[in-house]
Amino acid sequence: MVDVDQARCCYCGGCVSLCPEDALRLAGTRLQVSPACTDCGLCIPACPVGALSASPAGRAETTPPAFAPRYDVIVVGAGPGGSMAAWEAAQLGLSVLLLEKRQEIGSPVRCAEGVPHEALAALIEPDPAWIAAHLSQAQIITREGGRIVHRWQGAGGVGYILERRIFDRMLAEQAARAGAHVRVKTPVTGLLHGTGTVCGVVAEWQGSRYELEASIVIAADGIESRVGTWAGLDTCLPLRDTMVCAQYLLSGIDWDPVCMGCWIDQEIAPGGYAWVFPKGEGRANVGLGLQADLAETTALSYLNRFIEGEPGLATGQAVTLVVANVPVSLPSQRLVGDGLMLVGDAARQVDALTGGGIINAMTAGRLAAQVAARALDLADVTAQSLSAYQRQVQQAMGKQLARSYRLRESFAPKERSSRRFLRLFAVATGSK
Ligand code: FAD
Repeated sequence: MVDVDQARCCYCGGCVSLCPEDALRLAGTRLQVSPACTDCGLCIPACPVGALSASPAGRAETTPPAFAPRYDVIVVGAGPGGSMAAWEAAQLGLSVLLLEKRQEIGSPVRCAEGVPHEALAALIEPDPAWIAAHLSQAQIITREGGRIVHRWQGAGGVGYILERRIFDRMLAEQAARAGAHVRVKTPVTGLLHGTGTVCGVVAEWQGSRYELEASIVIAADGIESRVGTWAGLDTCLPLRDTMVCAQYLLSGIDWDPVCMGCWIDQEIAPGGYAWVFPKGEGRANVGLGLQADLAETTALSYLNRFIEGEPGLATGQAVTLVVANVPVSLPSQRLVGDGLMLVGDAARQVDALTGGGIINAMTAGRLAAQVAARALDLADVTAQSLSAYQRQVQQAMGKQLARSYRLRESFAPKERSSRRFLRLFAVATGSK
């Protein structure tokens, strides 16, 4: 039977139609070979990445990868936090390796893609190539028992809905242009430890395992972060500090293309809210996030029910589905270890009221790179030296994150239909 190297396979499906026995099948992101395979070998030369072989021994040889023997900084995860860190570090003259486990940076998108103009522009000049829509209006509704209690509608702060598929890739490309090495489909599976300090990562690339050395590892591996845990940092997320989200990109809806909509209603989204973030041409990210310990059914069921109840949305057709979680805890208490820094969702740097984390991840990524450069100059990558990053993050976003968390705590879900909560929420989303 033909052997599939799943680590190399990019599930392009090119081999499937070549099989005379119909023995190959794509099941999501896995290629399966059924016992009907006669080992005819027709599929083997059709694989663009050499993932098929008659037997494990028959696999194509890999060209030796261009990994350097050692890097100043290895960044794990090419989301906005990781790519920003890699970009900044490379610009500061460090040797950088950016590792991403997915085969396509920025895809699949797990985000509603909303960012405020000012905060984004402070980090990077907004470019129409990755902006799907400009928003200038907001509508926030609080409801109780199906009845509207408060509605706030008006000119909001200017914001953007990004095209993250393009945006994330652009950031990684900037990092590459500045000199960073970028590797996709390269999951990091462990850390290298020297004498008490993190000194690199273990990664898988094209079916082989590599030990890659670095003076500093920046963990920007998102909500699913394992790197912090491997380094002994507490990144465990309590259920009640997790927002469970579902979102469709709906096409063919009837919605004001410059207006963001939010619904705070414990029946629609217990402990969270539902949103409509327009993306132009009758399209919008329509989703919701609910507090994991309050959910009575799945986020997707809540979302379907919400859309059915909104005539302007119910006509829409779902062209993509996103299911993902957002950490809405306080930021991790320790963001650094010896030779290690945590950035973005991995460090829980998300606003607990809104679930927004893109800007914070980018800000933290940049700060982490700057502190890394200074630490390397001083030849001191101990936690104490890197703790400058923790202080700078605290200065940049600590107050805001703590305030949002406190507000979420102090308003029990059933009290969130109040005018006061609505006002605070409007400020937190940048609508007011
Ligand atoms: P991520 O963007 O999650 O990137 C982490 C990367 O690390 C991923 O590419 C992942 O594949 C990679 N990775 C993970 N483990 C490994 C490994 N072991 N090896 C190699 N690579 C690895 N924020 C906003 O500001 N505005 C919004 O409108 C908004 N809406 C959202 C809606 C939803 C439904 C969700 C789920 C989130 C939303 N967020 C929003 C939050 C926002 O998406 C995150 O805060 C942001 O993406 C964090 O960036 P990051 O770089 O820290 O992590």
